[in-house]
Amino acid sequence: ATPLAIASGVQAAAKRGIVVAAETIFEDAPDVDVVVLDKTGTLTTGSMTVARVHGENEERLLQRAGAVEQFSEHPIAEAITDAAFEDDDQLEVDVEAFERDRRGVSGVVDGHRVVVGHPDYLREHELAISTSLEARIADARAAGDVPVVVGWGGRSRGVIVVGDSPRGEWKDAVQTLATGRDVVVLTGDEGAAADRFRSVDGVSEVFAGVPPEAKAETVERLRARGSVAMVGDGSNDAPALAAADVGIAMGSGTKLATDAADAVIVGDDLAAIAETFDLAAGTNSRIK
Ligand code: ADP
Ligand code: MG
Repeated sequence: ATPLAIASGVQAAAKRGIVVAAETIFEDAPDVDVVVLDKTGTLTTGSMTVARVHGENEERLLQRAGAVEQFSEHPIAEAITDAAFEDDDQLEVDVEAFERDRRGVSGVVDGHRVVVGHPDYLREHELAISTSLEARIADARAAGDVPVVVGWGGRSRGVIVVGDSPRGEWKDAVQTLATGRDVVVLTGDEGAAADRFRSVDGVSEVFAGVPPEAKAETVERLRARGSVAMVGDGSNDAPALAAADVGIAMGSGTKLATDAADAVIVGDDLAAIAETFDLAAGTNSRIK
C-alpha cells in the first residue's frame, strides 16, 4: 500500500464531502456485494413533521410527549418537540427519570411515567392500545406515515402521526449503487412507509418492521451472501454500521454512529454513497 495513494484518496473524498474514518475502506469497499440502506435519515430526509394528533386531550398529549422527547435526538423527537413547543420557547413541564430506548423514550411528567414510541414499545410497557387507536395506527401506516403512540397510567392515550419524505434523488442513487451490487432497504417501519421502496428499480429487497436492535443481526445474516456495506444515520444504527464490512454514516449522524463508521458523508447527498465506492476502487487500484 502506498501512503501517497491513500493520502490523495482521503483528500479527494474530503473534496466531495466524504470523511474517511478508516483507511481500510479503500480495500474493502470495492469488494462489496450487498449495500444495506437504512430508511429514516438515509433514504428519507429524516426531517419529520407532526401531521396529526389523535387522543382524548390532544393538547395535553402533545405537551407531555414533547416534554419527554426534548431529551432525545431522534428525528421523530424533533418533530414532536417542534409541534409541542410551537408557541412557547420552553415547555413549562418538569421531566424526571428520563429513559431512552431504541424504539422510544419515557420520563415522569406530572407524576406519571409517560411512554412515547413504537406501538410494540408501548405494549412492552403494558400500556394497552385500544381498538380505536389501533385503527389510527393502521391508517397512518397505510398513508406511509409513522404512528407514534403515547401512554401513561396503564393504557395508551393517543397517537401522534409523524411524516417523513424520501430524498428527491434517491431513485437515481439506488440505481447507481445497484450496478454490480444488491441493494437492500432496512427499516423499523411497516406498511406503506416501507412498501413504497419495494417496486423501485435497483431495490432487490426490503426488510420492514426490523427493530433497531435487530439491524446488526440482519447485517450479519446478509454477510452469508458476500461482503456487506451498511449505510445509516446517527441515532440507532451504530451497531449495524459496526457489524458490516463497510460502515458509512450519513451526515446528520451522531457521534456514536460516526465512531462506528469507516466513512462519514457530510451533508445529505445520496450520490456520495456511490462516489465513495468509485473513489475507493480508484484509490485501491493505485495502492496495489
Ligand atoms: P428507521 O428504521 O426507519 O431508521 P429507527 O430505527 O430510527 O427508524 O426507529 C425505529 C422506530 O422506533 C421508529 O419508527 C419509531 O417507531 C421508534 N422510535 C425510535 N426512537 C423514537 C423516539 N425518540 N420517539 C418515538 N419513537 C421512536
Ligand atoms: Mg434510522
